[in-house]
Amino acid sequence: MSERRELSGIGMTSARTRDRLVERLKNEGVHNQAVLERIRSVPRHLFMDEALASRAYEDTALPIGYGQTISQPYVVAVMTEALVEGLPPGKKLTKVLEIGTGCGYQTAVLAPFAQHVYSIERIQPLVQRARANLRELGIGNVSLRHADGWRGWRSQAPFQGILVAAAPVEIPPELLEQLDQGGRLVIPVGPKNRQVLYRATRDGSEIRYEELIPVSFVPLVEGMEA
Ligand code: SAH
Repeated sequence: MSERRELSGIGMTSARTRDRLVERLKNEGVHNQAVLERIRSVPRHLFMDEALASRAYEDTALPIGYGQTISQPYVVAVMTEALVEGLPPGKKLTKVLEIGTGCGYQTAVLAPFAQHVYSIERIQPLVQRARANLRELGIGNVSLRHADGWRGWRSQAPFQGILVAAAPVEIPPELLEQLDQGGRLVIPVGPKNRQVLYRATRDGSEIRYEELIPVSFVPLVEGMEA
């Protein structure tokens, strides 16, 4: 970790600031202890521009450039919890696909719950930034790819979990096709200001849908950045 970034972290990384965030998430209904501990231990300030780093442990989405945002800790916690619910302690999902890497914060939270995370981002400079951030934290079980996540990652399918961090108006069918038996897709769906987080679970040839919480994500854009 570079000295500059380490110094800039003093104060905002204090145990008290992080405890306050975790308390808040508990009050909002997040109860998975492993997820709460992971949120506590991932240094969210390292994923952000220095100008905003002092706000890193507020429970809010913040800009990361290119019109995108780092996900809100509460939503990251709810999505991760929805993906790993019922997983025995110490067990991991085999393969998880993430769409919308952004700066890699959600990827970092997710990493210890999967043997391997495959993550797709359509904006090339964000892929590079996420790669640097994850390397700095020593997170090695992640493959990043600059691509259109709308189609999933067919050569690595099926996935036990798929987590989408941007909202389509309808669920892309290829993501459902790439779900393993019993696998879960956690995805925000709907137009701006009217999105709902869904969990879709593959059960034989059926897909079962559950509505989780109202959310506000940037749109899942089809196609690639030039
Ligand atoms: N979870 C991220 C933030 C996600 S913001 C974090 O913690 O930082 C949503 C991201 O989805 C943006 O970076 C955006 O570029 C990306 N995105 C939108 N449409 C996409 C697509 N079709 N394929 C891959 N990434 C996409």
